[in-house]
Amino acid sequence: MKYLISLCVCCCLQLTAFASSYEVPQGDVLRIPAPTQAEGMKVQAFGKSWPIYKHDEQQVAWIAVHLHTKVGKYPITWSSSQSKQTWHDEIQVNQGDFRISHIQVKKSMSSFSPENLKRLRADQQAIKTAYKTSAPTLHTWPAMSWPVAGIISTPFAAQRYINNKPRSPHSGIDIAAAAGTKVFAPLAGKVLLVEDMYLNGNLIAIGHGNGLTSIYAHLKRSLVKKGQVLQAGEVFAEVGSTGRSTGPHLHWGVHFAGAKINPRTMLNQAAQQEAQPSLGGKDE
Ligand SMILES: [Zn+2]
Repeated sequence: MKYLISLCVCCCLQLTAFASSYEVPQGDVLRIPAPTQAEGMKVQAFGKSWPIYKHDEQQVAWIAVHLHTKVGKYPITWSSSQSKQTWHDEIQVNQGDFRISHIQVKKSMSSFSPENLKRLRADQQAIKTAYKTSAPTLHTWPAMSWPVAGIISTPFAAQRYINNKPRSPHSGIDIAAAAGTKVFAPLAGKVLLVEDMYLNGNLIAIGHGNGLTSIYAHLKRSLVKKGQVLQAGEVFAEVGSTGRSTGPHLHWGVHFAGAKINPRTMLNQAAQQEAQPSLGGKDE
């Protein structure tokens, strides 16, 4: 009997043995190396497949953790179509450190008439459709630069109180800048949506391929049309204060394969090191 019990313990240990364990806060993207450099690797986490990019001769998976993912441990499964082998890693999702934000807006922007509610729902549907629209991958590594130079006025996932009532956490980063300031594409992509919306004001969605989409709201005006292809660093809009906005700013949101994520986690190394968004002299 004793032998049987120890045998069972051994089996369990083998089944739950993880090669690597990674920690990540809610709303961040995990970039992890493949366990082998063999071609034809696939990776699964949170019930879906994630893209693998080659960087410095290494295959690296980009796995997004949705802002609303519950704190806890989740499995990552790698598989090779060549060797038919599988490997297991693990993600520990930690509580994000999110701030509280209060704004005051006029009544028509916090409680809605049936007509405005109808428009609001149509706006939300258009954004959802953009998130699901496939776009070409026009880059080899999806790290982004800041889309605009300015001051962060509301960080990602701040708990919002609008006219003192709690609302959903802030879905992006607000960057305050003068009206008319140029907005640059932080990564190459295709324009999926250009629309005037009730709360978001003038909004543009850009698809970057592999389920990665960025949105830009409250724009003064758009300089592009739906379907247009943008190179990284190309000007495509101007900062404004359209829709539900208390002053000129850019609302920048990022979605990755159904996960609402912190745009900061997508920044390239140079942009990560800046305390405030700056464009290193690119903005004339
Ligand atoms: Zn915002």
